[in-house]
Amino acid sequence: MLHTLSIGELAEQLASRRISSVELTRHFLARIERLNPSLNALITLTADGALASASAADARLAAGERAPLLGIPLIHKDIFCTDGVRTSCGSRMLDNFVAPYDATVVTRLKAAGAVMLGKANMDEFAMGSSNETSFYGPVKNPWNTAKVPGGSSGGSAAAMAARFAPYTTGTDTGGSIRQPAALTGVTGIKPTYGRVSRYGLIAFASSLDQAGVFARSAADAAPVLQAMAGFDPRDSTSVDTPVPDYGAMLDAPLRGLKIGLLREFFEGLEPRNAALIHDALKVYTALGAVTVEVSLPHLPLSVPTYYVVAPAEASSNLSRFDGVRFGYRCEQPKDLADLYKRSRGEGFGPEVKRRIMTGTYVLSAGYFDAYYLKAQRVRRLITDDFRAAFAKVDLLIGPTTPTPAFDIGAKIDDPVTMYLNDIYTIGANLAGLPGLSLPCGFVDALPMGLQLMGPHFSEGKLLGAAHRYQLETDWHMRTPQGYE
Ligand code: GLN
Repeated sequence: MLHTLSIGELAEQLASRRISSVELTRHFLARIERLNPSLNALITLTADGALASASAADARLAAGERAPLLGIPLIHKDIFCTDGVRTSCGSRMLDNFVAPYDATVVTRLKAAGAVMLGKANMDEFAMGSSNETSFYGPVKNPWNTAKVPGGSSGGSAAAMAARFAPYTTGTDTGGSIRQPAALTGVTGIKPTYGRVSRYGLIAFASSLDQAGVFARSAADAAPVLQAMAGFDPRDSTSVDTPVPDYGAMLDAPLRGLKIGLLREFFEGLEPRNAALIHDALKVYTALGAVTVEVSLPHLPLSVPTYYVVAPAEASSNLSRFDGVRFGYRCEQPKDLADLYKRSRGEGFGPEVKRRIMTGTYVLSAGYFDAYYLKAQRVRRLITDDFRAAFAKVDLLIGPTTPTPAFDIGAKIDDPVTMYLNDIYTIGANLAGLPGLSLPCGFVDALPMGLQLMGPHFSEGKLLGAAHRYQLETDWHMRTPQGYE
């Protein structure tokens, strides 16, 4: 069964020519065609393009080229611009938008020999925690199709959990890789802000957005992040520091590793969730890690801070969608104002409008100091708290989400309850830190995630700590029934 193999095993089979990339691609395309209708995880299938890239990869393999991702299929979140392929960002606004260029993430993975199978469903403009705000309808969680897969990269996470590809891409502005990874039982890493280029990634909140990976395991995520990461002159916030060899860091011993337990994360944590985190800690202490309790006193302010900063940036970023040059345009506008008003009114869904209105309000002259400026100050305090914590510990550990996947429809009419799903993930975005979620058990027969956070540019350490845990446990190997 080709979809049960790791990226390393697939690369080996391709290298020894036991399978071809075309065969592998056909296997995943058939799987998607059969199983996607009940999940709605993919919104665009690029079968012809995939087979063409697979043949090209086979030619490179036949010529003796060897590379970790050469000939291996993937699925991109539909937030990444893909040359010649519809890039909708989950919105009616961009339903007719065919990108004229590739995002840097797409370019780099193409160069590495990746084969794109299609584009994954997502919350509209990446705003959401349940993948219910998509213009294309909700994504279902493969563990239980009455449940959400999390958001906003819900399509990428569900596709990974259903083994529609060996890996998928996502973006994380406030938790959108880690949260859906947790709710679908896969491994997801959000790198340090600036580690991966944002060029060609449709902007939601530019000071928070970061691209990352969903994979079965940390060992599988390592070569993908390796290919994606690095300086890009086309993104002014991309950081020019060398990318370490993540694969070589996977086996780093954990003896003496100082793991911080965030007091704020454990206060009020649901007992079954807390028990899973404590079980995971036992694995780490058996491997020689030591635990230290730490406190980040300003962390409880992260959700309100985020919901000022992110909508402010979104309101500015989304002003470009005006019906003039590309995207949705209303029928027969009376004049320019009518064109703007109706194109935006009809092209955006309710959550996006809510964010634009909130953002415009907090940036308006009379309220800027009271909201936006205040939020930026609190953001600095939260960042300083993390800095102080990382002076004492190597990594922080805690839950990824407060609950397992919830019912579709349960929270969509209550934005504040929905926003609280990201209570454990938003801090890392505000401080620009890397975070990783990995499966650590089940509650009510639904997967739960363990979150690791580290200092800036500690992706290698996070992947290593996750890998060591995954050598001792098999949570990441479990697949939902019907998707084995
Ligand atoms: N759920 C958060 C929001 O709705 C985070 C989304 C994200 O990370 N893209 O804004």
